[in-house]
Amino acid sequence: MGEKRASLLAQELGIESYEDMLYHIPHKYVDRTRLYTIGEISPQLPYIQIKAKITTPTVTGVGKQARATAIAHDGTGELELVWFKGYKYLTSQISPDKEYIIFGKPTVFNQKMNIVHPEIDPYDANARDRLIGFQAIYPTTEKMKKAYLTSRLISKIEANIFNSLHGRIQETLPAWFIKRYNLIYLHDALYNIHFPQSPDLLRQAQYRLKFEELFYIQLNILKLKFNRKAAFQGHVFSTVGNYFNDFYYHHLPFPLTDAQKRVIREIRSDCGSGKQMNRLLQGDVGSGKTLVALMCMLLALDNGYQACIMAPTEILATQHFQTISDLLKNTPVSVGLLTGSTRKKEREILHEALTDGRLQILVGTHALLEDVVHFRNIGLVIIDEQHRFGVAQRAKLWQKNTIPPHVLVMTATPIPRTLAMTLYGDLDISVIDQLPPGRKPITTHHVYESRRLQVYKFIRQEIEKGRQAYIVYPLISESEKMDYRNLEEGYENVSAYFAPLGYSVSIVHGKLKPAEKEEQMRRFAAGETQILVATTVIEVGVNVPNASIMVIESAERFGLSQLHQLRGRVGRGAEQSYCILMTSYKLSNESRKRVETMTSTNDGFEIAEVDLKLRGPGDIEGTQQSGLTCNLRVANLGKDGLILNEAIQAATAILEADPLLEKEENRTFASQVKRLFKTRINWRYIS
Ligand code: ADP
Ligand code: MG
Repeated sequence: MGEKRASLLAQELGIESYEDMLYHIPHKYVDRTRLYTIGEISPQLPYIQIKAKITTPTVTGVGKQARATAIAHDGTGELELVWFKGYKYLTSQISPDKEYIIFGKPTVFNQKMNIVHPEIDPYDANARDRLIGFQAIYPTTEKMKKAYLTSRLISKIEANIFNSLHGRIQETLPAWFIKRYNLIYLHDALYNIHFPQSPDLLRQAQYRLKFEELFYIQLNILKLKFNRKAAFQGHVFSTVGNYFNDFYYHHLPFPLTDAQKRVIREIRSDCGSGKQMNRLLQGDVGSGKTLVALMCMLLALDNGYQACIMAPTEILATQHFQTISDLLKNTPVSVGLLTGSTRKKEREILHEALTDGRLQILVGTHALLEDVVHFRNIGLVIIDEQHRFGVAQRAKLWQKNTIPPHVLVMTATPIPRTLAMTLYGDLDISVIDQLPPGRKPITTHHVYESRRLQVYKFIRQEIEKGRQAYIVYPLISESEKMDYRNLEEGYENVSAYFAPLGYSVSIVHGKLKPAEKEEQMRRFAAGETQILVATTVIEVGVNVPNASIMVIESAERFGLSQLHQLRGRVGRGAEQSYCILMTSYKLSNESRKRVETMTSTNDGFEIAEVDLKLRGPGDIEGTQQSGLTCNLRVANLGKDGLILNEAIQAATAILEADPLLEKEENRTFASQVKRLFKTRINWRYIS
């Protein structure tokens, strides 16, 4: 390959070796076993091929308007073929008497059916060969297309690689394993991925590559889990004592839900096992994770340890501190708050109380990770909304003690099971799958922007009943100026409608000074204003139970998890709550699907599943920051859940018999894991 194309491949797709190239997997296949007649085809069809004669192309227009057109005809009809570039050579090649195989996607332009930039091959013995089987279509980028680095050229490059390798592709799984799981060999799998010899072989090739990919990820992550459990002792929380019991029997503001009880039991038995706990607690917005966190911290206290809880933002940390102090106000437990804005003097007092053990529970932000913070005896660390904490930060926390504390990571963004098993496979997982009783499910409606006045009327009715409303605008850095203008305009419209009725409106966005922001929030929370117009700054953590309406403007521009988080701001009180998704008439298929999902379910896990299917794991909130890469080349976590299960079982079976992968028969596994996961981070120290 020429240097220019090679560097384009590296730039655009990160391809630098034969291996990279072989793992550049087609994103779809077209059936080239079938020939259509022109009379049969319609613009609804995907890529198709026809056998036809072609008239001599004529070139019209100049400069950017220039194009070549020709007519294909096969006796059943006529079809226009169009080229906008690269046609000089082609036009000299076409002879009107010969038959050709024409391949492409039929479209309609100016009421005529045509194919733009069709692939054309003379219909001869060679072409008949190509009719057999499926043709791979590869993802390409704009830049690649400009350099004629097309899907078809990639296919040729793949073929060249196979020719020059003469079958020497090193197998990456041991023979006994291939046999046991009925897999095909790597060489055959890769060959059939690029050049499917039959639908069945294509299926087997896909299965082998997906299974292997998921298997090695699981083998790596479960190996860490197996070994950590073997290597590290944990503090033993053997007793349930006064702190826990006193709170449970005398200060609990409401009965725990069954799910809360179950999760506390799981955590208790884990912390009592003598092994260090590493647990992920998943629970939808409002499922009551804070209370679970508190009770686990009391358990630590009962066994003579300190505990801390960290939140991603200062607002959230402060809110946790208030909630927890409030719940513990009639108990002897000491609670402190440490954030970036804690004053020096106060900070020193906190540090001292932490070091000598007088302070039992510390609530805070990243400031907790500063090196000067020393605990006397930290037994449990709880991390709320963990994905905002980087891996390195968690590792730092670990080093705060010689014996590692138990770690509980809480997340409010439900993660689909397949993703959780892949990203957090080394953590145990607990799920709160139940909301506290008495909550009325939020009703969600989709309303077009042209009906905004009706929405205002509705808000007015609810405000008259004493409720409050949020109106949220999108704010995206690429279109920030426009977005701020929309927000300002929105604020003016809302004020113009509601002020004459005697209601007042708060506004909160990122450009306000912190003090101003806080004041606006305070007024809304205190009920002094009835409406809060805001950007997504309110997404995390804000708790105003009296607010029962969430209006989301330009809802089509939000992602599913964001919509779900925003909706979670209402439905916190006893009243019926509403979420109104405002959109324009023009909706892409994907936005329509998002809106439909929101109006049809309140279940965060179900929404996360749809999100995963729509966007793929790379884009799901939290996966990039989670520190674990989830760059799957072949498998798709949205679709391959069953294969993932099989991979987990296979990996577990191997590790149970040979946790360090030292046996002769497992040598290939050991070297592959080493080769595939060369990360510099010491995973043993990661919670
Ligand atoms: P999240 O899981 O989103 O962090 P929170 O811990 O903030 O949820 O709890 C949401 C609300 O539910 C809080 O107002 C909390 O007091 C309340 N809550 C928690 N557990 C229960 C329960 N068992 N019964 C009733 N209300 C509860
Ligand atoms: Mg919470």
